Amino acid sequence: MKIGIIGLGLIGGSLGLDLTAKGYEVIGVSRKKETCDRALEKQIVTTAGQNLELLSKTDLIFVCTPIEAILRTIESIIPHLSPETIITDVGSVKGAIASPATKLWSNFVPSHPMAGTANQGVEAAEYNLFNNAPCVITPLPQTSPLAITKVSHIWETVGCRLYQSTPELHDRAVAWISHLPVMISANLIYSCTHTSSPEVIKLAQALASSGFKDTSRVGGGNPELGLMMAQYNRQQLINSLREYQQNLDLLIESIEGENWEALTNILQETYQNRPKFI
Ligand code: NAP
Repeated sequence: MKIGIIGLGLIGGSLGLDLTAKGYEVIGVSRKKETCDRALEKQIVTTAGQNLELLSKTDLIFVCTPIEAILRTIESIIPHLSPETIITDVGSVKGAIASPATKLWSNFVPSHPMAGTANQGVEAAEYNLFNNAPCVITPLPQTSPLAITKVSHIWETVGCRLYQSTPELHDRAVAWISHLPVMISANLIYSCTHTSSPEVIKLAQALASSGFKDTSRVGGGNPELGLMMAQYNRQQLINSLREYQQNLDLLIESIEGENWEALTNILQETYQNRPKFI
């Protein structure tokens, strides 16, 4: 299979690195010439350029741009493709993409590899990013089974564990384990830096160690990604935030009321349940 990748940043670049290393012919397209040059230097791709026409002979194209550019990008490549070409994406939300993208291109398979780091751009691309990471395919009833098999095969080739769900179920699940944690972690950093005493803030910054490093990691990452999660998975994120707020109130009440038994029960439950997620 001849593979095309549009957007050679963290996700597209890392995918290209693994596929090129495995001997695939990988054609990369990016907006900037510097990105294309660097992608060739780093052996992310075998061919690179800024012109979408380069993708006309590819069998499978991964759209790895920011979420807001995915549909626009699909629209722009369509004039260059033959009908057998499969298009997939890597966007972190699926409800806003799966149906409109399938309307644009019937041979479209929505996908989302659950892997990442705090870095972005072509320099952030790394080998084995997807090794043992979950990848969710969210097909619609009309999605071609052959196209699903081909897209799944490539994700498995780079080490992903494959799952399938509807776009809606995907968006509800990732609101809980990906988008809500970004907002909670961001709010933690925000609250710590806006607390009233500058003296306390200064000392807290000096004392922050591994616990704060863990809990602040996702909230201190790429701001554009967090914004897009909120914009494109808005309702599911609001639902999760509201439920979270109710549970936060329960925590506050138990501490305020010195209800140590209630607090112990919550903490024992979270101690037991964490391994079910990671
Ligand atoms: P990234 O490192 O910023 O890379 C984005 C790439 O897209 C860059 O190569 C950039 O090209 C290009 N690009 C940026 N804006 C564009 C636009 N308006 N039109 C066309 N191309 C554009 O981002 P990323 O983290 O790889 O994220 C890419 C996609 O992966 C997103 O849809 C995101 O939801 C999804 N995703 C991200 C993660 C994560 O943890 N980061 C995890 C799973 C999925 P130039 O360098 O040439 O400007």
